[in-house]
Amino acid sequence: MAIERTLCIIKPDAVEKKRSGAILAMLEEAGFTIVACKRMALSRPVAEGFYAVHKARPFFGELVEFMTRSPVFVVVLEREDAVAKYRQVMGATDPAKADAGTIRKAHGGSVGENAVHGSDSLDNAKIEIGYFFAASKVAPVAG
Ligand code: GDP
Repeated sequence: MAIERTLCIIKPDAVEKKRSGAILAMLEEAGFTIVACKRMALSRPVAEGFYAVHKARPFFGELVEFMTRSPVFVVVLEREDAVAKYRQVMGATDPAKADAGTIRKAHGGSVGENAVHGSDSLDNAKIEIGYFFAASKVAPVAG
């Protein structure tokens, strides 16, 4: 299996609840290397652009309101099979349906306010990482 990178966003609900450190610890314990991490307030156009694929969904307005409510951490994760492994560690969209031990089970509050985002494919991971980080700003991993 190949070494991959994927994008995690620690969403406003989790940052507000001071869960960012606990979430990053869960990710490191799950074997991910944090290769880039920044705290930022998403503007409305940036949030709308990031979630453009969901534009037609009934919850789009609510999603953009939520993601722009307060700052997030945007995180690039690396490990073998990172995209699929992070989807597992993240858990189901609805925290109530997420498996025990997942980030959303531990830290998510509702289907909308579910603590973290994760890329859903390797192609989208590349697009999403590029949306937030210039290639020159993502540190190469030693070794
Ligand atoms: P994910 O890949 O598990 O994050 O799920 P999706 O790609 O289907 O949805 C993207 C994000 O939209 C989710 O993580 C939620 O924050 C939000 N979302 C999804 N479904 C709902 C919903 O029914 N209501 C609200 N308010 N937000 C939703």
